[in-house]
Amino acid sequence: MSQIYDLLILGGGPAGLAAAVYGGRAELKTAVLEAEFSGGQAARTHELVNYPGFGLGTSGIDIAIKFEQHAREFGAEIINDRAEQVDLKAKPKVITGISGTQYLAKAVIIAAGSRPRQLNIPGEEKFTGRGVSYCATCDGAFYKNKEVIVIGSGDSALIAAVFLTRFASKVKIVVSHAEGGLVANHRVIEQANANEKIVWLWQSVSKEIVGSDKVEGVVLENPATGEQHTESCDGVFCLIGSRPMTEMFGDTIELSESGHIITDEKMQTNIAGVYAAGDIREKYLRQVVTAAADGVIAATAAENYLAMQSTLAELQSRDKLLITFWLPRAEDAEEIVSALEEAAIAKYGEMAKERKSTSQQGELRAELGVDKNQPFAAVILQKGTLIDRIYP
Ligand SMILES: Cc1cc2nc3c(=O)[nH]c(=O)nc-3n(C[C@H](O)[C@H](O)[C@H](O)COP(=O)(O)OP(=O)(O)OC[C@H]3O[C@@H](n4cnc5c(N)ncnc54)[C@H](O)[C@@H]3O)c2cc1C
Repeated sequence: MSQIYDLLILGGGPAGLAAAVYGGRAELKTAVLEAEFSGGQAARTHELVNYPGFGLGTSGIDIAIKFEQHAREFGAEIINDRAEQVDLKAKPKVITGISGTQYLAKAVIIAAGSRPRQLNIPGEEKFTGRGVSYCATCDGAFYKNKEVIVIGSGDSALIAAVFLTRFASKVKIVVSHAEGGLVANHRVIEQANANEKIVWLWQSVSKEIVGSDKVEGVVLENPATGEQHTESCDGVFCLIGSRPMTEMFGDTIELSESGHIITDEKMQTNIAGVYAAGDIREKYLRQVVTAAADGVIAATAAENYLAMQSTLAELQSRDKLLITFWLPRAEDAEEIVSALEEAAIAKYGEMAKERKSTSQQGELRAELGVDKNQPFAAVILQKGTLIDRIYP
């Protein structure tokens, strides 16, 4: 029988590896399933100079290596496998890899990030790997003294275009807006404008990638006039954003309109014990630092969830039990809690008693359905089954 992980993390990018550091550190049996290589999109970024503490001269790979080493140091296992099928409602949760291996886990963090969006135009699929690329860092060096076209005009596309000028003799940027209508960081725009190798192709929409056995050009259309022409090039970089990797979850996980996973502030999804972290979730800012932060929040929430599951299992083995939730430092705390205990015993007879701090037991209170507006509450259980809740 397969071993059961406390915490299984799907994806070894910044979010997944940061979660693994915290999972391992909390002594949870933690594993990361990574389909390709550790570091995710960060590892494909040539310069990554805005992660606090890592300044100029840092590459994405530097950070990715450090994240992975750190996760391993704390005992997390990194497994090279692609999660293909999931049963997240089962107990334990079941994840099947492309290798055919089944992984069982008590809690899961989804940190599978996103993939580059495709243009979906003729020629794109045919020339992928033969002149069509989605990663300037990975493929830029193949275009020494050649001409390339960058399709896309957001921050990532412009940063990539500037990077490509290290190799290419000319970099043409295809922009659908009219001149001046760029929506990108002004410093990135300035850098691109100042670069003599960069040529802007304004008001142009890519219609087809053409060539014989390798890319020779892109057919562009002016949306205002409908006029078309072929712009020659040796390579095309498609940099029009990304889509979250959520296909494998079908409709079991709640998604936003843009297809990202909806979580609460603890990274909890709509399924108990399942969390989402990083670029795959609906959020305001998708960066390495926010992905890592999501990962550590998710791992901490998963740790608390697992602790609560063992508390609930322990409660099931107990006969009649009175738990009083209280705030020990509140005014009249002792009087209120004693009155609650007396009321419970008067109604249900003598039983074992335990006091638990309201401020530390939020998850147990929620699990037992205690009103969150009532800091003091008595809960009577029989073999883990709720008999009654009494409030002051
Ligand atoms: C061109 C570019 C430049 C960027 N520059 C910066 C920058 O300068 N600074 C910055 O802070 N951020 C930058 N970012 C954003 C940053 O890279 C992301 O926000 C960050 O990598 C997100 O981390 P993540 O762990 O959520 O996802 P990802 O980095 O996407 O990692 C997800 C991981 O999950 C794996 N995976 C996917 N599906 C599966 C599966 N089914 N089974 C197992 N594994 C799976 C993938 O292989 C990948 O390794 C840039 C992004 C791009 C594309």
